[in-house]
Amino acid sequence: MVGIVALWRCKCGMRVKVVAEADSNRPLATQVALCPKCGEPRFIHAEKIISVIQESEVAYSAPR
Ligand SMILES: [Zn+2]
Repeated sequence: MVGIVALWRCKCGMRVKVVAEADSNRPLATQVALCPKCGEPRFIHAEKIISVIQESEVAYSAPR
């Protein structure tokens, strides 16, 4: 098992960070991570999802 991190910006504007484990023996395994805010599903190649985190808004500062 190797740890992987998937990070994306959901359509609701939230940055979602998923920590998961991938098994090199099953490279095509897929898990569904749900946005903690709106529930939008996101498919990631992983064996097991460890945690779904809301990434801090500080990570990016949108110009006004
Ligand atoms: Zn969302």
